Amino acid sequence: MQKHVLVTGGAGYIGAHACKALAQAGFVPVAFDNLSTGWRDAVKFGPFVQGDLLDRASIDAAFHQFRPVAVMHFAALSLVGESMTDPGRYWRTNVNGSLNLVEAAVHAGCMNFVFSSTCATYGDQDGVVLDEDTPQHPINSYGASKKAIEEILKNFGAAYGLNHVIFRYFNVAGADPEAEVGEQHRPETHLIPLMLDAIEGRRPALTVFGQDYPTPDGTCVRDYVHVVDLADAHVKGVNWLLDGRGNRAFNLGTGHGFSVRQVVDASRAVTNRDVPIIQGPRRAGDAASLVSGSDRARTELGWEPARSTLPEMIRDALAWSQKPGFLR
Ligand code: UDP
Repeated sequence: MQKHVLVTGGAGYIGAHACKALAQAGFVPVAFDNLSTGWRDAVKFGPFVQGDLLDRASIDAAFHQFRPVAVMHFAALSLVGESMTDPGRYWRTNVNGSLNLVEAAVHAGCMNFVFSSTCATYGDQDGVVLDEDTPQHPINSYGASKKAIEEILKNFGAAYGLNHVIFRYFNVAGADPEAEVGEQHRPETHLIPLMLDAIEGRRPALTVFGQDYPTPDGTCVRDYVHVVDLADAHVKGVNWLLDGRGNRAFNLGTGHGFSVRQVVDASRAVTNRDVPIIQGPRRAGDAASLVSGSDRARTELGWEPARSTLPEMIRDALAWSQKPGFLR
């Protein structure tokens, strides 16, 4: 019998890669997306449902039609900067939408739920190793909204037995090495694609946000994970739940941090091209350093972030951005 997985945000960057990984693992990914930031063309590996998480009836209909064995919930607004200027939109979309989805899942008896959370739930914890038991004190509305959804899952787990795996991502980068899907935001705000735009002349320069952080070179440090490794972790998360292994939170990071300057240097090395740079002010809501301090995903889930080196992420993102028909 075919096992369907409902993938909210399945037309988005990470969701589309997860759909590919699910299909490769023998599941049927059902992409549920309102196309506000996703792309219809990115849905290639299973059925598509155009629906909105703020519309409970459209979620119920998808559960009824496909009877999924699990949900992977990616659909969300995810920009730190924007969350600071428009917090209401973040709370409404992320929290209300997720609450509708969780209630619909329980109503449909679909009790396996994999949630895309974020290291932004930890906040700015200078010098603290971020493992899954680190107290979460988000410093931006995006992180706060994701933390609230984690609480919803815990409450529904306790009340109704909703089994959940929470993945707290660090910085996701790269693209499908076969370039079937890749990163395409409108507008683009993320470091690696913007840097490639600057290298390839699609924009004049990369602005480096802040040079005075308490980090070795003064720029922010992040832990970058290849999107294909991240997608693989999600399939492992579904199998973890189907095997009845219970509720668990996992960081998805490599444990190695790189500063903005180091990412720029790595891009110079990979492309052999110059990166035009402007030194700009800090961006509101940015933590100085976010690096995973935990091996839990490796030891318990058997996850190996095999592609997550800066050169590999930059090379795959570059190949995708050079693909004919790529929009930006
Ligand atoms: N960044 C930057 N210039 C840009 C975009 C990002 O200096 O044009 C920095 C940003 O301040 C952060 C890091 O790059 O320290 C990664 O930012 P991104 O937006 O890619 O991901 P986030 O950490 O917000 O999830």
